[in-house]
Amino acid sequence: MTRPKRLVLLGHPVEQSLSPIFQNALLTHAGIPLRYEAVDVAPVALARNLEQLRVDGAAGNVTVPHKISVAAHCDWLTPIALRVGAVNTFWTDDGTLFGDNTDVGGFVAAVRTHVPLLPDHARVVILGAGGSASAVLAGCEELTVGRVDIVARTPARAEALALQFGSMAHAATDLNAVLAEADLVVNATPIGISGEELPVDPHAIGPRASVLDLVYRRGETPWVLACRARGLQATDGLTMLVEQGALAFSRWFDHQLSPQEMRTVIWSAIGERR
Ligand code: NAP
Repeated sequence: MTRPKRLVLLGHPVEQSLSPIFQNALLTHAGIPLRYEAVDVAPVALARNLEQLRVDGAAGNVTVPHKISVAAHCDWLTPIALRVGAVNTFWTDDGTLFGDNTDVGGFVAAVRTHVPLLPDHARVVILGAGGSASAVLAGCEELTVGRVDIVARTPARAEALALQFGSMAHAATDLNAVLAEADLVVNATPIGISGEELPVDPHAIGPRASVLDLVYRRGETPWVLACRARGLQATDGLTMLVEQGALAFSRWFDHQLSPQEMRTVIWSAIGERR
């Protein structure tokens, strides 16, 4: 792969993202003379922007709402991006657009870090049925969990995801029953980015469950705080963010920094924003 000539984050909006802060810290640490820019791209302008990025020899990340659309524009997808149907990391080589999904590895690493005792054949509940829910399902396959119940406000999306992931995955029909039996409950909706709304009532979650909120914000999310107050082990999305960002940097720069070195640089860069 040719070294990227530009590094960007594509999203709409993008200003809330911590990625520019830590990706620029990694670039500085590695002595790479590039800047990682956040580019706000409205959905109607996505195709035009991607064409320019091919010409520019760019690489980068993709965030809400473009992960599924960018997958459709790629010329080549890694097996995991193909499985998820969404791209959060891309690069170009001689005009060819390559897509990958490091959210899966980020999720798996976050579970291994924060829920190391997740039982074999665990029962997982995912709240939401968008691109990150699909990445969580692919991560659950890697973690060999027993059953995943998908809870979504648009039931057809939960049913489509369940079909995509086979016998492990089910569209939930009884929210309280699946929450009561869960070993791990994951919020893959944007609820909690701002405001005080909770994705589900912590008291509906069974006492043995751990909770992983993919959302993060300064001072942790209201759901993480409420779940912890109920006595549950609960963690926000920062570890997943750090791990997916380190994996993306490795793709672009051919493992120039070790995973531990990247973690140290990233956590230090975002330390003041936690
Ligand atoms: P997405 O593709 O837009 O999907 C969002 C899902 O949440 C959809 O199922 C949507 O339902 C549902 N939803 C949205 N608002 C809702 C509400 N008010 N009540 C109930 N359900 C609601 O987004 P995504 O890419 O999956 O990302 C979801 C969130 O995950 C992001 O906001 C981001 O904060 C977080 N995330 C974090 C990381 C990390 O590294 N920590 C990585 C990826 C994502 P409908 O289909 O009905 O609209």
